Amino acid sequence: MSDPKSFHMSPEEFRRQGHAVVDWIADYHSRIESFPVLSRVKPGEIRAQLPPNAPEHGEAFDAILADIDRVVLPGITHWQSPHFYAYFPANASGPAILGDLVSAGLGVQGMLWSTSPACTEVETHVLDWLVPMLGLPENFLSTSSGGGVIQDTASSATLCALLAARERSTKFASNHEGCDGRLVAYCSTQTHSSIEKAMKIAGMGSDNLRHIEVDKNFAMRPEALASQIERDIHAGLTPSFVCTTVGTTSSNAIDPVREIASICRDHNLWLHVDSAMSGTAALCPEFRFINDGVEFADSYTFNPHKWMFTNFDCNVFYVAERKHLIETLSILPEYLRNQATESGAVIDYRDWHIQLGRRFRSLKLWFVIRHYGIEGLQHHIREHVRLAQEFSGWVRSDERFEIAAPVLLNLICFRLRSGDRINQDQANQLLMERLNASGDLFLTHTKLDGKFTLRLCVGQTNTQARHVERAWKRILEETEKLESS
Ligand SMILES: *Cc1c(COP(=O)(O)O)cnc(C)c1O
Repeated sequence: MSDPKSFHMSPEEFRRQGHAVVDWIADYHSRIESFPVLSRVKPGEIRAQLPPNAPEHGEAFDAILADIDRVVLPGITHWQSPHFYAYFPANASGPAILGDLVSAGLGVQGMLWSTSPACTEVETHVLDWLVPMLGLPENFLSTSSGGGVIQDTASSATLCALLAARERSTKFASNHEGCDGRLVAYCSTQTHSSIEKAMKIAGMGSDNLRHIEVDKNFAMRPEALASQIERDIHAGLTPSFVCTTVGTTSSNAIDPVREIASICRDHNLWLHVDSAMSGTAALCPEFRFINDGVEFADSYTFNPHKWMFTNFDCNVFYVAERKHLIETLSILPEYLRNQATESGAVIDYRDWHIQLGRRFRSLKLWFVIRHYGIEGLQHHIREHVRLAQEFSGWVRSDERFEIAAPVLLNLICFRLRSGDRINQDQANQLLMERLNASGDLFLTHTKLDGKFTLRLCVGQTNTQARHVERAWKRILEETEKLESS
């Protein structure tokens, strides 16, 4: 209370409450297995506990923190629980949380190199580290023609790739002459929905997105892509962009990037590779087969915020030719002019993404890489893949189940065989609902070959053998209950 006119938190109080918050987070992580993984609240239940109006007078911090337990926790789906197998993970870790805290503490806005040189240079450097760590092509390095940037999400990265493709295809004239509705983009029927959204936002129109059919492993068929491109050229359209996926969201399928790349080269199409979750696997040399053909990509993206122990949000986006991206997104109003920028000697990341301002996100990634080391990261990725393969073995050896897609890494797509189609779908849905309602684990579903399919992704930071064993045990128990009802 040194200044009676100030409502701010004093540094002393910040220190005290900060310790309490860190204690709270550590306690949360140590008791996380005691919570039902999927939140059980009904719509509106959380809001109903909040006062209708904001407080007129400031409240004690203890009261605020107490409400995290009372109000917030019941409405949390515990993504950091080792029993979380749903969607793809959004895993966190101690070093990442602390890196994020330091970033908040510095409170830097790194839109330009000059607004905090460290924010730019640490990012550039850490993303250069990642290139050899993942066995990615050297032209993604900042020291060559390309470079990397941290974005919020893969969706944003894909949008930037599409915008750069649009500009390259129109010789950077679309902003003068408009987009004439003739640019066409290609993806597979399994591609993430973010590409369709990007088509809408980029003004290219979702009608101009072609969903190319897939093979029996749910990977894009290159010959189907080639013939669709021919048809579009014949119809007077301009093929511009192909989005390939290394590890689709639905089944972890891997598009044949090398073959698709040669089609892209024939027609001067921009080749983008979306490896949102699976990209992390390339930390291990034995899984680098997933990067086959990536050396021909114009752009590549993966999410350390999925499987690389780095808190959401942290997406990494590489381009092979940074000049295309920068020319697409660069804006220089008078009030941002500065000597460093004019000299051309620095990177201004505001020209590498949609928004202007940016957080110091590379800190958490830097903390993670330095804490684990390459060895530590490899160890945990290998362990997740090993556990997933073990799980798939259990599924295969039980004749009541079938595997629905190749288990290449850490995602298992499987289902009960029983009954005709309708009953089979119902049985699988019921099994999933009962498992999730039990709170013992959380998994989600997809549709493959038109059939309701369970997805179990082993990728949560703390998932170990005992958790996966328990998941299988619970699946068997609920299956037996289903069969006897
Ligand atoms: C999760 C995912 C995305 C979207 O990720 P965001 O970072 O949430 O935008 C895109 N593509 C694939 C293949 C994904 O699995």
